[in-house]
Amino acid sequence: MSNDTTTSGLTFDIQVSPRRRTPQEREAILESPGFGKVFTDHMVTIRYSEEKGWYDARLEPYGPLSLDPATSVLHYAQEIFEGLKAYRHPDGSIAAFRPEANAARFNRSAVRMAMPELPEDLFIGAIETLLAHEADWVPVKPDMSLYLRPFMISTDVGMGVNRPSGTYLFVLIASPSEAYFASGVKPVTVWLSEDYTRAVRGGTGEAKFGGNYAASFLAQAQAVEKGCDQVVWLDAVEHRWVEEMGGMNLFFVFGSGADARLLTPELTGTLLPGVTRDSLLKLAPELGIPVEEGRISTDQWREAAVGGELTEVFACGTAAVITPVSHVKSTRGGFQIGDGQPGPVTMRLREELVALQYGTRPDNHGWVRTFG
Ligand SMILES: *Cc1c(COP(=O)(O)O)cnc(C)c1O
Repeated sequence: MSNDTTTSGLTFDIQVSPRRRTPQEREAILESPGFGKVFTDHMVTIRYSEEKGWYDARLEPYGPLSLDPATSVLHYAQEIFEGLKAYRHPDGSIAAFRPEANAARFNRSAVRMAMPELPEDLFIGAIETLLAHEADWVPVKPDMSLYLRPFMISTDVGMGVNRPSGTYLFVLIASPSEAYFASGVKPVTVWLSEDYTRAVRGGTGEAKFGGNYAASFLAQAQAVEKGCDQVVWLDAVEHRWVEEMGGMNLFFVFGSGADARLLTPELTGTLLPGVTRDSLLKLAPELGIPVEEGRISTDQWREAAVGGELTEVFACGTAAVITPVSHVKSTRGGFQIGDGQPGPVTMRLREELVALQYGTRPDNHGWVRTFG
């Protein structure tokens, strides 16, 4: 079929799926899609080899990848990914929130995992090409969006481990999704993980790398065993300094009303630099809430919460936007944050961010990129 987009010298070859779902089937799915469970009719793939660079960009029917059992990613886990959303704006247009930031982070992850960087215009071009054919999959209902998952895997066949793969596959898939936590903004209880470590200096914690998640599931299961919703990661050396909550960054609110101020753990190389975190660092001061990047220990967290100086805690990330943290548990017992309800600063920031993403507030930052 026709070729449409040319990017970085590459033209996306378009193969429309013969098994496209009917409008009725699609509408039925969009009634209640869950999160990351159902996928649209197409995907984008781009291949890489050392000789050719990036080549063979295409839109094709969504479907299984065929891999030799000796494919490098299945053994040595060279895999990185991104997560961002396409939102339906009130005028019917479709927009993504800071996709250039995801493109840049994808490349920082690629460098860490000794994988090739993907030119930003190809990353954005892949999204544009997919959205051009899947626009009807971007939900109209509030709180819903089309979750975009770009990822890259190593595809050399063979067991040699002396060097990274010489060939790679980039894939972009999309999943219509409703709120990440089915309960919406219901506060979560967290477990301070002292038994397990997510990331160490010089390690891979800063990269959006699949292996970081593989290494986290046991700790998350332990948190659930302890009656918590999410695990909180502490630094690897002293197991004392707070880093992240599951796959989200954390913010601490001290004081209240006009005196409220924010603290978020600084990027030490072991935290994932969230786009949502970065956006809040810019938004909060504009709303008159000072914000500081620093550090907070588990003892300081407990003392400030018990003393009432710490009034709110929330986690942030693309999938769940902003989630209040109401209770903390550890081997030393538990404590509550504030009155255990979502706090005013948490809800204010959430509302601002969501309004920007869904296009109900003007974007003064150049963060919103419209497609089609
Ligand atoms: C993706 C991710 C985040 C949040 O990043 P956003 O860009 O805000 O979605 C935080 N922590 C981890 C471990 C992540 O993988």
